[in-house]
Amino acid sequence: MIDLHTHSTASDGTLEPAAVVDLAAERKLTALALTDHDTLAGLEAARAQGKKRGLEVVPGVELGIEWSGPGQMHLLGYCFRPDDAGLRERLRWLRDRRRERAQRIVEKLNAVGIAITLAQVEAAAGGEAIGRPHVARALIEAGVVSSIGEAFGRFLSPGRPGYEDKDELTPEQAIQLIRSAGGVAVVAHPVTLKLKGAALEAFLKELVGYGLEGLEAVWSGHSPEQMRELQALADKLGLVTTGGSDFHGDNKPDIQLGAGRHGNVQVPDSVLAALRHRAAVA
Ligand code: AMP
Ligand code: FE
Ligand code: FE
Ligand code: ZN
Repeated sequence: MIDLHTHSTASDGTLEPAAVVDLAAERKLTALALTDHDTLAGLEAARAQGKKRGLEVVPGVELGIEWSGPGQMHLLGYCFRPDDAGLRERLRWLRDRRRERAQRIVEKLNAVGIAITLAQVEAAAGGEAIGRPHVARALIEAGVVSSIGEAFGRFLSPGRPGYEDKDELTPEQAIQLIRSAGGVAVVAHPVTLKLKGAALEAFLKELVGYGLEGLEAVWSGHSPEQMRELQALADKLGLVTTGGSDFHGDNKPDIQLGAGRHGNVQVPDSVLAALRHRAAVA
């Protein structure tokens, strides 16, 4: 079994990249993709640890997408050349925009009387890609809230006083970026698009036109029925189906590496072989 959707301290997970690999080895996984948000910083350490533990580490990344649809779109990239200059440059740009956004979030929180600094948020982030989970951690440490969930509910979700948009790529730009680095693009957790039936199919067809290769049918937040429907839709559109837990360590304590929620994420090795095949022929 494998897990193709995981986060480390390089973005908003709480385990170091090597510790994610160690945990995967303990769970008897044979391969793992680290899919940190907007950064490849964890890849080298994860790969080195994977060599020691006899577990394959696949290059991965997760990108937030600017999109005018009803829900949220995230895109996963796999099997790209990690040293691709265009990809690295674009990810750096996205991380720089994240840092500026963190500053704006801090200013908004200060304006409603929350005493918190960018330095505190950066300390909570530690790694490369600063996000709202790090602001949430800083709010816990400052004694403002007692959990990540409370931080999002009161301050960090859309419509709350500390919310700020993130600069993101369009679907076409993001898919093109992954492809130009030799990789394959997969729509992450498709339920968060909040599209159904014909609207979902039409949107995915548009993405296939840009070079989309896969759909993450198996994910911790999908019901068994949603997984079945997404699998059928992927088959219909000629897309690969992938799966992953979206493990974030203690930032999402109900999600288990290699297992998801109550064991609802089980991904066989054959999924990686299918992805690789796509990457090779793309
Ligand atoms: P950002 O990339 O900074 O917009 O933050 C988005 C990340 O925050 C997601 O990838 C999740 O890891 C996390 N997140 C979003 N909503 C919640 C929530 N309600 N509770 C905990 N974590 C969340
Ligand atoms: Fe995350
Ligand atoms: Fe995501
Ligand atoms: Zn994720």
